[in-house]
Amino acid sequence: MQYEIPFLDFTEINKRIGKELEDTFHSFLYANNYILGDQLEYFEKEYAMYTQVAYSIGVSSGLSAIELSLRALGIGPEDEVILPAFTFIATALAVSHVGAKPVFVDVEEESGCIDSTKIEAVITTKTKAIIPVHLYGFACDMDAITRIAEGHGLYVIEDNAQAQGATCKGKRTGSIGHINATSFYPVKNLGALGDGGAITTNDDTLAEKVKSLRNYGSSEKYRHQEIGFNARLDELQAAFLRVKLKYLDHWGLERQQLANIYDKYLPETIHKVRKGNVADGVSHLYVIRHNDRDHLQAHLKREGIQTLIHYPIPIHLQEAYHFLGYKNGDFPIAERLSKEVLSLPLYPGLSEDKIQRVCEIIIAHH
Ligand SMILES: *Cc1c(COP(=O)(O)O)cnc(C)c1O
Repeated sequence: MQYEIPFLDFTEINKRIGKELEDTFHSFLYANNYILGDQLEYFEKEYAMYTQVAYSIGVSSGLSAIELSLRALGIGPEDEVILPAFTFIATALAVSHVGAKPVFVDVEEESGCIDSTKIEAVITTKTKAIIPVHLYGFACDMDAITRIAEGHGLYVIEDNAQAQGATCKGKRTGSIGHINATSFYPVKNLGALGDGGAITTNDDTLAEKVKSLRNYGSSEKYRHQEIGFNARLDELQAAFLRVKLKYLDHWGLERQQLANIYDKYLPETIHKVRKGNVADGVSHLYVIRHNDRDHLQAHLKREGIQTLIHYPIPIHLQEAYHFLGYKNGDFPIAERLSKEVLSLPLYPGLSEDKIQRVCEIIIAHH
């Protein structure tokens, strides 16, 4: 279906940097080096600098970034990893893929981020790590989470897939945990033209470990120290990401301005889901809550406006995790948010007129 106002539209971005991306492809094509080349190396340096960490390692997706982070820390069968019940499924899948058990925690009503006051209650002798997810582009309470982790000897792995460029008390998200993961899936704030992800860390041993794991467990060609994977970031995607990284802050500001416009038109009575002020995050998504969400979404659709739901089923109630034995009512806030959240159109190039129209329709329905 063709929407008058789509949830996301790359047309404007492609207008702005299409030529640069085409030139990048042309250079890439004739450089004769398609895997683990110079572009990846440059991108890793630039993304590390951007994230204010010593190392960034490009990998094939956000999911593999979380999975390889867990593996680099030696987390596996018999171990437990704490994460929010309200996130994209990949956060939990990575824990399952290494053979560990995901242990869910409810989220904060105001932000949808993991509720740090509920973490200590689920820590056991098997707990090895906490994965805070900076939901919708806004940082979790990293001071509290770091304190809890230090107190119990746990690792922290930030899931920074939605928050590239955000800060938490002056520190970049993705620079605070022991080892951190992000995604360059096209709709993320820093999106490739395909799949991609990265790990960021200040720990040189973990960085080396991940570099080996993503490339068949090898640090020297045809010598394999461990059972590794093929989980590299493509040279072509790295080249495109180098172009897009230059615009990330600029587009981040634009997203903030668009979020401010929504704030201006939507009344206080319509609740927005986010942590703190718009200025502290990167407004990956603009999410409202509505107790008649499904009707509101259908109504917006009839008016030609596309919205999405992030996320309609909390992880503990997903069929894939039925075996863990969680039930309805275990995480009431995650469950309520999953019934009430609605993500409104937000992307660089969206106009104030269109935002105004979306808001008028919401207000009329309200
Ligand atoms: C997108 C996303 C991921 C997964 O990234 P992929 O690159 O799609 O594998 C993980 N966690 C969160 C919070 C995400 O939004």
